[in-house]
Amino acid sequence: MTCPPEDAAPVDPAPILARCRELGFALAGVAHLAPSRYADHVRAWIASGRHGTMTYLADDLETRLSPAALLPGARAAIVVADRYAPRGGAMPSAPEAPECPAPRIPARIARYAQGRDYHDIVKRRLHALSDELRALRPGAEFRTCVDSAPIMERELAERAGLGWIGKHTLLIHPEFGSWFLLGVVLTTLELRTSDTPVPDHCGSCTRCIDACPTGCITPWSVDASRCIAYLTIERREPIPPDLSAHLGEWLFGCDVCQEVCPHNSARSGAWREAHPEPMHPGYASRADAIDALDVLAWTASDRASARLNEATRRAKLALIQRNAAHIVGGALNGNHGARARARLEALAGDPGTPHLVRDAARRALASSGRPEPKARCADTPNAGTARQAPPPPASS
Ligand code: SF4
Ligand code: SF4
Repeated sequence: MTCPPEDAAPVDPAPILARCRELGFALAGVAHLAPSRYADHVRAWIASGRHGTMTYLADDLETRLSPAALLPGARAAIVVADRYAPRGGAMPSAPEAPECPAPRIPARIARYAQGRDYHDIVKRRLHALSDELRALRPGAEFRTCVDSAPIMERELAERAGLGWIGKHTLLIHPEFGSWFLLGVVLTTLELRTSDTPVPDHCGSCTRCIDACPTGCITPWSVDASRCIAYLTIERREPIPPDLSAHLGEWLFGCDVCQEVCPHNSARSGAWREAHPEPMHPGYASRADAIDALDVLAWTASDRASARLNEATRRAKLALIQRNAAHIVGGALNGNHGARARARLEALAGDPGTPHLVRDAARRALASSGRPEPKARCADTPNAGTARQAPPPPASS
């Protein structure tokens, strides 16, 4: 990679973007750092409490709305997108994925968390990119952001021409869909920014809104406090009963709104040959689901030795078992109902069980696995455009 001389501003980013693709990123672009155009929407979203218990979103709000504030003298953002799943079909399996019997009561893991920890995968390559750029432009500053800084990655990706923000608030590329994790390098280099936004292709589609188990999507806004990704990962408290009844099989995250999106549907072999889809091997799946009954029996050392995906390690054992208790509670009338009931009763009656798990076990028993009617939230179109719930993934 070569960089143009320092006095040639703004700098043509083509060599930098080419290097991003050499590093395996599927998409790369450059965004300007003007304050967020969604500021009013995001402030209203926070004011309405849709960020749930993620108070850091409110604390960092003004910084989050002004990306240039994160690096003194910042002039542009290099934005990259890593594909972590193919369109349609199953995830590729990691070579080290253990051979396991089918789970008795499946507890599903969102696709972005089925492989190695995306923070490491994305950050390592962005640090390498920054180091190379520093060597070429010693006076320039760089700051890498992968879910670690208050920044609206999706809006920057949209500005950089990587895709449009769908009604489910995730970035969608017209060819590759939405299975992306985003990373950003802020820089004081004055780079020429991308000026060609990708048009919105959602049209009249409402599949993600109709399919969302908790009814938390209104067009271009997600009530994160009701989103399963938030409930299963970020919420450290008991899950409200009207929402726990809709967790289904989700143990860590939720992919429903992306699974139903037509832009993620399978394509023919000829299409795939014409569109080689770079995907880092680290995202290959180690397990897409584990046994919820096993999870309820885990000790801390069981959990540490389980071949669980690295990205799920951020969730404490009690939180994972709280989620598993709700999943098992939804299976009380199934094939393994007797075993499920016995396990929940043991947890509910054991004073040594962490409160979070005992509470979930008791409530799961009380609900007897009867699903409640589909939850709906108040219809508030355009209340916000950035899903500030967990990753999205990503950072997504
Ligand atoms: S991740 Fe699941 S719960 Fe959250 S918005 Fe999408 S479908 Fe709804
Ligand atoms: S499911 Fe339909 S409305 Fe939702 S993001 Fe995809 S194209 Fe847009």
